[in-house]
Amino acid sequence: MDKERKLIIAGNWKSNKTVAEGLSLVNDLKRELAAVKEVDIVVAPPFTALESVSKAIIDSNIRLGAQNLSADGYGAFTGEIPAGMLKEFSVGYVILGHSERRQFQKESDALVAKKAAAAHAANLVPIVCVGETLAEREAGITEQIVEGQLGGSLAGLSAEQVERTVLAYEPVWAIGTGKTATSAQAQEVHAFIRKVLTTLHGEVVAKRVRIQYGGSVKANNARELLGQPDIDGALVGGASLEVRSFADIIKNSI
Ligand code: PEP
Repeated sequence: MDKERKLIIAGNWKSNKTVAEGLSLVNDLKRELAAVKEVDIVVAPPFTALESVSKAIIDSNIRLGAQNLSADGYGAFTGEIPAGMLKEFSVGYVILGHSERRQFQKESDALVAKKAAAAHAANLVPIVCVGETLAEREAGITEQIVEGQLGGSLAGLSAEQVERTVLAYEPVWAIGTGKTATSAQAQEVHAFIRKVLTTLHGEVVAKRVRIQYGGSVKANNARELLGQPDIDGALVGGASLEVRSFADIIKNSI
């Protein structure tokens, strides 16, 4: 697939995989995907598996992501993991503002923006998620919601930082439900996101930002979705938990 921007496909393991299970999965992925150069491949295990997975993927083409970080630094923040600790395990990416955290941990756009700034300060690439609920789509306010989330979650970042940020458009109604946005629905929102980025930071930045699609991406719909001009990769939940399905998504997107 000849794309303007290099594809980035990330697996969000969420609260799944023991250390042993995570190691088994990445060792299989390493074998399956050793020849892939066209796609940036990222796995985001739970914090508890970061160290072992990090060691297992040294010298491979698989990069490491975390699923969250602390908006604050070192110090008295019980239960929080600052960016500096993630760097100890060669983490390169961090997923921020996932709809599950927005919903269950009540994370606001302002908090996501603070975390994105902390990520950039530590030279981590944030993967910032935005997306509307089913009720919002049905009310015809998808663009309004996505624009608000983008403005709020990227607030305070410089144009250079925005350019290095990866965005993930994840319609909430498509996450873990088996319902995928059609490629036309997804492309429409991705093009809109690029338009918003153009207004915020100019055309050059908007053209360089990679925007992943997420929401029930599987091996059999990856090619069609990632073939759209403004879709630059995928953030994959359920299908990233098995070697076959995750490797096939990546292979089918090349
Ligand atoms: C996700 O949680 O980011 C996601 C897209 O999940 P799934 O692929 O399972 O829909």
